[in-house]
Amino acid sequence: MANDYLKDKCGVFGIFGHKDAARLTYLGLYALQHRGQESAGIVTSDGRLVREHKGMGLVSEVFNEEEISSLTGNIAIGHTRYSTTGSSNIKNAQPFLVETLAGHIAVAHNGNLVNALTLRRKLEKEGAIFQSSMDSEIAIHAIAHSKKKDFKERIKDGISQLEGAFSMALLVEDGIIAVRDKRGFRPLSLGKLDGAYVIASETCAFDLIHAEFIRDIEPGEILFITDKGLKSDRISDKKTRCSFCVFEYIYFSRPDSSIYGHNVHLTRKRQGRELAKEAPCKADLVIAIPDSGSSAAIGYSEQSGIPLDMGMVRNHYIGRTFIQPAQHIRDLSVRVKLNPVKDVVKGKKIVVIEDSIVRGTTSKARIRTLREAGAKEIHMRVSCPPHISPCYYGIDFPTKEELIGSSHTVEEVRRFIGLDSLAYLSLEGLYKAMPLPKNKFCVSCFTGKYHVLPEHGIGKFNLENQLSFLNKI
Ligand code: AMP
Repeated sequence: MANDYLKDKCGVFGIFGHKDAARLTYLGLYALQHRGQESAGIVTSDGRLVREHKGMGLVSEVFNEEEISSLTGNIAIGHTRYSTTGSSNIKNAQPFLVETLAGHIAVAHNGNLVNALTLRRKLEKEGAIFQSSMDSEIAIHAIAHSKKKDFKERIKDGISQLEGAFSMALLVEDGIIAVRDKRGFRPLSLGKLDGAYVIASETCAFDLIHAEFIRDIEPGEILFITDKGLKSDRISDKKTRCSFCVFEYIYFSRPDSSIYGHNVHLTRKRQGRELAKEAPCKADLVIAIPDSGSSAAIGYSEQSGIPLDMGMVRNHYIGRTFIQPAQHIRDLSVRVKLNPVKDVVKGKKIVVIEDSIVRGTTSKARIRTLREAGAKEIHMRVSCPPHISPCYYGIDFPTKEELIGSSHTVEEVRRFIGLDSLAYLSLEGLYKAMPLPKNKFCVSCFTGKYHVLPEHGIGKFNLENQLSFLNKI
């Protein structure tokens, strides 16, 4: 159950004013599956009645024809939630739906609140009874406890109390609301389809349903979407510095998405080009660790002139029910996901392009399989700097101690993974590859400098642990 609050990296989707709202949300969630595989859910409204269906697992496992058909109404929001070890719990599946005095309200959240505990304690003192350990539930109670008269004002007032990273879709009985925190840590976009408005974490969800991209929800914007159209308001003034998550470009978002206004694949290709300039390599072949290293590998190959080939193949059909093999055959589990193409790598000097090294353990196992496949020399180039600090804004990184880059030199990491050479892209090189000026980004995982500190300090952020600790004293 630990660490739910550290790992709320998710996909959100919403649609207002379409007769096939649930079905389109289901399809949108398919496109956002990479943002979360633990659970999926949809809540719909026909303006009066609200319906929900949630479950553990992939979108394809959670919904069937019957369930989709029962989700009636022309308003819907949906959510895919990221898988975390030990926290597979239906209580934490989203959207989170409650009935308040003013009617039903549901929330689908991507991000991490940094003032969750303080806010929760305050709300509990005011009588709120929490059902889950999700920070999304805090948002709902903050709205329900607002003293403002008008429902929209209450929503705005409740959301304004949240601090940290949140891109949210909310459903009320007669509309949906899209809101993004004032620093804009996580992406959220607005689109249109057959006169209906659509919101999604990433634009790849629009492509799938043939929706047209209109614009991003702005940092600090709250957008009410009802049958009166769009009403944009703000939860904060516009002066706050942007903190777009750079890791969305590096690893998390899909390459066919445009986030913060720019395509992910082309950005990663530029990272690969910068990497080739900074860290050239004498090799016969460039190979990618698929899928997240593929775009940077193309850029590295184009810039260096070293041919690109497919040295590893990914199995996409593992799912969450994959049974871990017993200890003595555990080594084989890495091949379930990625298998080298022996005839490509055998006898070759290869430069492997990886998007990031986090713990270093997966890379070590993958490199061993490439050695076993007969690669003569293996050089690794990583398309971002070493990760030295955890993320408090919604990306699933382990603690500082577990991040190999926080305590090991590049040479030590090279030896641990078993490489002939290793180099990372510098922070300056990363900035050069980015489509926006450097002051727009959050790079705290590479620098340890945070734009907004978690309420209980660095390294003490886990809300569930905080709650159980406080409950004991
Ligand atoms: P490791 O060698 O154990 O550090 O794992 C590196 C691999 O993890 C790379 O292929 C990355 O694409 C992938 N990765 C990076 N960040 C994350 C994350 N937050 N969640 C899951 N995988 C990640």
